[in-house]
Amino acid sequence: KIEINTCDKKLVVKEDKIIMAGPCAIESYEQLLETAKFVKSQGANVLRGGAFKPRTSPNSFKGLKEEGLEILKAVKEETGLAVITELMDIRDLEKLYEVSDIIQIGSRNMQNFTLLTEIGKQDKPIMLKRGIAATISEWIGAAEYIAVEGNNKIIMCERGIRTYNDYTRNTLDLAAVPIIQKETNLPVIVDPSHGTGVRYLVKPMSLAAMACGADGLMIEVHPNPSEALSDGMQSLHFDEFEDLMKSINITNKDY
Ligand code: PEP
Ligand code: MN
Repeated sequence: KIEINTCDKKLVVKEDKIIMAGPCAIESYEQLLETAKFVKSQGANVLRGGAFKPRTSPNSFKGLKEEGLEILKAVKEETGLAVITELMDIRDLEKLYEVSDIIQIGSRNMQNFTLLTEIGKQDKPIMLKRGIAATISEWIGAAEYIAVEGNNKIIMCERGIRTYNDYTRNTLDLAAVPIIQKETNLPVIVDPSHGTGVRYLVKPMSLAAMACGADGLMIEVHPNPSEALSDGMQSLHFDEFEDLMKSINITNKDY
């Protein structure tokens, strides 16, 4: 049983739908606070935001790093939302552990076995994203690396895999949801933002994810996606997030 404290309420993963929303990257205090307040008002119960960003080009914005964590901490205190952010390097664990309620292991590190072994020794919930080209067996194997060290508070996240499809950034594999539920006892959520890379596909794929039994969603939302420093193309505007939350009928206004 995975329990996460959020705004005076305990979020019980699998019993409550877990809705993680926020910007791809933390860009400023104002950007994160505005987004956090909005997504909370629409029923999100976890705020996402990357401080350490894995980027394809080393010349792209790689996150505000420690400053990003400080901002995340401040916004968490201000809004009472639980927060999730990605750990890329075990050397950042201590700083990240202090702030993040859930530790995100990104696609690119799904088979970083030394990282998995180290976070397996922690007592915080871990969200393990599926690797960019990982089979389901490899993904489950990665979760076992964490669990074998004693941490079985693992949330699986389907975020699409690389295929020959040229209309989307990745191919969202929704069959993975019931498969993970059958093969493991772990909760599984879906990230249609990275799973498609295309804004207009986020709502239909969110609906599909909920319909096939996902335990929640991770959605990228930005106050001004056209100005976002990363993943603007797949980030929802506020009104689109509001529409999405209404359409999946999540009204966790008490979080
Ligand atoms: C993210 O969610 O911030 C991210 C980088 O996603 P992924 O690891 O799935 O590419
Ligand atoms: Mn992103």
